[in-house]
Amino acid sequence: MPTCQNCGKKWTWKQTVKTLFRLKKCCPYCGKKQYESASSRRRTSAFLLIPLVLLPINAWFEFSVGMVLLLAIPLYIILLGLYPFILKLSNEMEPYW
Ligand SMILES: [Zn+2]
Repeated sequence: MPTCQNCGKKWTWKQTVKTLFRLKKCCPYCGKKQYESASSRRRTSAFLLIPLVLLPINAWFEFSVGMVLLLAIPLYIILLGLYPFILKLSNEMEPYW
């Protein structure tokens, strides 16, 4: 779970998921704006690429679009559920590389 870099409090899974749907990630305890750290961001982008492995599988089995959506939606829900476990916070906006 992510820990606020300002007050050191751990965010709960629910609080983390809630901040995902907001443009600004603010700590629910101290209200300080938090950023996703560069290393965490790299992991997140790797995470988001996982569903792309479905594409060649899809071509192989010749699934319909509806079937792909049926597979992709639960996969994204699982990824969203796992996101708070990989998220690391930073007080400042870190450069990508
Ligand atoms: Zn805080």
